[in-house]
Amino acid sequence: MYKGKYPNVAYLCMEYGLESDFKIYAGGLGILAGDYLKGAKDLNVPIIGIGIKWKQGYSDQRIDERGKAYDSYYNNAYSDLEDTGMKVTVKIRKRDVVCKVWKTEQYENNPIYLLDTDIPENDGDDRWITGQLYGWFKEERIAQEIVLGIGGIKLLRELEIPIDVYHFNEGHAVLAAFELIKEKMESGCTFEEAWKRTREEIVFTTHTPIVQGNESHTIEALEYMGAFNGLTRKQIIRIGGEPFNMTVAALRLSRKSNAVSKLHSVTSNKMWKTTSGRSEIIGITNAIHVPTWVDKRILNVEKDSDKLWEAHMEIKKETVSFIKDRTGSQLDSDKLLIGFSRRAATYKRSDLIFKDKNIIEPLLKDGKIQIAFSGKAHPLDDTGKQIVQNLVEMMNKYPNAVVFLENYDMNIGSALTRGCDIWLNNPRRPLEASGTSGMKAAMNGVLNCSILDGWWPEACVDGVNGWQFGDGFESDNIEELDRHDLEALYDVLINKIIPTYYNNKEKWIEMMMKSIATTKESFSVNRMIREYYEKLYIK
Ligand SMILES: *Cc1c(COP(=O)(O)O)cnc(C)c1O
Repeated sequence: MYKGKYPNVAYLCMEYGLESDFKIYAGGLGILAGDYLKGAKDLNVPIIGIGIKWKQGYSDQRIDERGKAYDSYYNNAYSDLEDTGMKVTVKIRKRDVVCKVWKTEQYENNPIYLLDTDIPENDGDDRWITGQLYGWFKEERIAQEIVLGIGGIKLLRELEIPIDVYHFNEGHAVLAAFELIKEKMESGCTFEEAWKRTREEIVFTTHTPIVQGNESHTIEALEYMGAFNGLTRKQIIRIGGEPFNMTVAALRLSRKSNAVSKLHSVTSNKMWKTTSGRSEIIGITNAIHVPTWVDKRILNVEKDSDKLWEAHMEIKKETVSFIKDRTGSQLDSDKLLIGFSRRAATYKRSDLIFKDKNIIEPLLKDGKIQIAFSGKAHPLDDTGKQIVQNLVEMMNKYPNAVVFLENYDMNIGSALTRGCDIWLNNPRRPLEASGTSGMKAAMNGVLNCSILDGWWPEACVDGVNGWQFGDGFESDNIEELDRHDLEALYDVLINKIIPTYYNNKEKWIEMMMKSIATTKESFSVNRMIREYYEKLYIK
């Protein structure tokens, strides 16, 4: 790869999925950030992370007796964080807020520095700024973003780590740019010069293909919280509009941006078409840290069909026993097992497969298919919680065929993406930006059955390394789209997947081998980091 000196990169992100029980992550964004830092360590490239030491992290979400999801928060227990002894101070609501700086120990040259306001120097309320990940909105979210962004730059200065590229993973880190602009203005630049030079240092990854999903704040709230950081109201509005949109701002503050799959780059460029003065959005497809997610037993035998099937069955039995421990349900490891674990967001349509009872119920009754679900709804998302409730209802009705594992985390993700036969993915196209769980499955020989969304159009050879359904159909008419995709899903399930699984094991194993061979390199995080260097970091 690149021959010159690698630029030093500081990666700023709200969440990191490093280990299952280190609860400073909520979902895909954090898992990506964690996998990226692990990959940076494997490749020995100069990348460090900046994040927040969440006191309670994201919600623990369990199911009550009525089948309803409820949230609880527990204080995180940390064992292997190093106290740097360092503190930085940011101004929030005109008060000094002191942030203690912690450091992860296990990633050697690629540490993550975590900011923490839960220390005695701060007022009671301010101690809770780093309390809950995505737990609060509006002002509290801005406070968290001041800590991450402005606090993040200050800690780099305090540590005297020279940085060539600031990489904002999602818009949450955007206030870091205000600190970079301020520094330059303090050394004599005009605002215009400072903005221009700052833009040369920033790259940005956008994740959200839904307009409303891109966070915005009122100008008044930003001003009240102290987020202007010395800039004027007019300057703030020029950067992020009014209301201030974090993604628009990041696009205007970066020299280059990326979307997280090729299809997502098309969607993003359409979405932000009318935004003036923004950076170009290229596609760099997400990827996974192979040693974290792919079972060694599979990687050892991927070219030997008998041994591959043996290893798969061994792992599948472990997953079946994991499911039994978690839910009490005993699934049958000789029957087809479909996995589906993802956030219970409406567009992901977790309960789509149950929509036509006349078709699905006979398959569940016969024991032809078994489905293992997991996934949290956002604590404030009632529609998402209703979806979870629908899944739990189906589990109660078909306890030997449907299971729901509460409190989705990396452990559950890992068990299901290793030990199912099929990995189902049915978002409303094109709303799934990437979808890394399908990559974990693919490399473990778990065949994807997916809408052509996110990463899947780049990998799918239909009927060879997995299946697509829906043929890339899109429609603004949600009812029509759902009906179309549901029919396509039943078609592939009944006419292709079930017959292949039960009647043509040879072909199935052949497909597993193709699945692994066609994804292992292209969707490994090493490829993603190389692309980041080639297309984003190196000018
Ligand atoms: C891999 C993973 C994700 C991201 O997967 P998607 O396909 O984007 O849903 C989210 N949460 C956990 C716990 C994971 O392991």
